[in-house]
Amino acid sequence: MRTDSLMVTLPEDDRPTKWYNIVADLPEPLPPPMDPKEGPSRVKMLPELLLGECLRQEASTQRWIDIPQEIQDLYAQAGRPRPLFRAKRLEAKLQTPARLYYKAEFYSPTGSHKVNTALAQAWYAKEEGYERLTTETGAGQWGTALAYAASLAGLKTTIYWVRAVHDWKSQRRAFMRMYGAQVYASPSPNTETGRALLKENPNHPGSLGIAVSEGLEDSRKDDKAIYCLGSVLNHVLLHQTVIGLETKKQFERVGEYPDVLISCLGGGSNFGGFTLPFFADAIHGKEIKFLAAQSEAAPNLQGEYRYDFADHAEITPLLKMYTLGHRAEMHPIRGDGLRYHGAAPILSFLRHLGYLDTVAYPADERHVFERTRTFVQTEGFLPAPESAYSVAAAMDEAIKCRESGEKKVIAFNISGHGFMDMEGYSEVLGL
Ligand SMILES: *Cc1c(COP(=O)(O)O)cnc(C)c1O
Repeated sequence: MRTDSLMVTLPEDDRPTKWYNIVADLPEPLPPPMDPKEGPSRVKMLPELLLGECLRQEASTQRWIDIPQEIQDLYAQAGRPRPLFRAKRLEAKLQTPARLYYKAEFYSPTGSHKVNTALAQAWYAKEEGYERLTTETGAGQWGTALAYAASLAGLKTTIYWVRAVHDWKSQRRAFMRMYGAQVYASPSPNTETGRALLKENPNHPGSLGIAVSEGLEDSRKDDKAIYCLGSVLNHVLLHQTVIGLETKKQFERVGEYPDVLISCLGGGSNFGGFTLPFFADAIHGKEIKFLAAQSEAAPNLQGEYRYDFADHAEITPLLKMYTLGHRAEMHPIRGDGLRYHGAAPILSFLRHLGYLDTVAYPADERHVFERTRTFVQTEGFLPAPESAYSVAAAMDEAIKCRESGEKKVIAFNISGHGFMDMEGYSEVLGL
């Protein structure tokens, strides 16, 4: 393939057939989930809360895990492999000697990378005899992805959607319903957790941690229902490694290797999926910079590295992670998918070991959206508000290269498209 290709594709035969499990290559063992000192054992309850196959993957130390043929076919139908684009027009606009590449996870039926794990989880759920999936969603991308995957598998879906977002994204709500999902604003009157919070404040804006508690509570009351989580956990990052595995092969095809890898990080699934196959090389001594772009509204990677709950109601086990505290109040932002109190244990551990840098952008989102406007005007694609953080961080790195003269190869992931988020851009940019 030409080294100056603008769109780097991957032949169908080169599609990943295994997911990559970084746990096998970590220099020290990953701290496992734990129980709090008081109350019932959450760890023992995990088999009730998670799909059997996902729970096995959660604890697996095997380096490569086969992607069942049926899931590979679903990936193909969802448009994988996705292209890697060279951002030549953006480079010219920025007058940078850096070479910029972006992975097009926005080439997705529902608009984001979340389909990569949704398709796997829905397929496993069907195999394990479940009839309904329950979940939480923040920005709405995960809810849509799971509704889509469930619909393909012939399953029902119930979605608890953080009220502050549910109320302004009416198009995405309709999209989820188009797939047949039942959608509730969270906190909802459906669960004890929701009812208690609504009693305190009937207009409670909700949070991802609360919506997780509601989804869990709902599924525990129904034998035929199982809860699915769209980020944070090891098995979710595992499923997402198809992003980075493809990207690595695409770089091989053009004879390059990235010096810097960048993406936005909320819970860590797109960042992990994109970067973990490259972390393997970093652990073995290769010099690569990994940069996670976050919001000052939820800079979880700058929190404390300690055991904390993954949800508001303390139903989950404790996970060792960088956290702002599981009941932290976070200012609403348009890139709402980045508003979660903790970062995935795997990525938290890699940060703890010194492999991962982070940057947090102001919560008014002017800087990230202005940068993204320049991206849209040169490259043409509209990133999701979350992905805008990745775009801005990549552009900021490219601008540093202009100043230093360094010809770095900068790779960034665009986790989703923003077709249903124009209101957010309009408000901040005055469109
Ligand atoms: C959910 C989401 C995110 C944030 O979640 P991660 O698990 O950190 O990837 C980022 N971008 C998009 C488009 C999303 O849908």
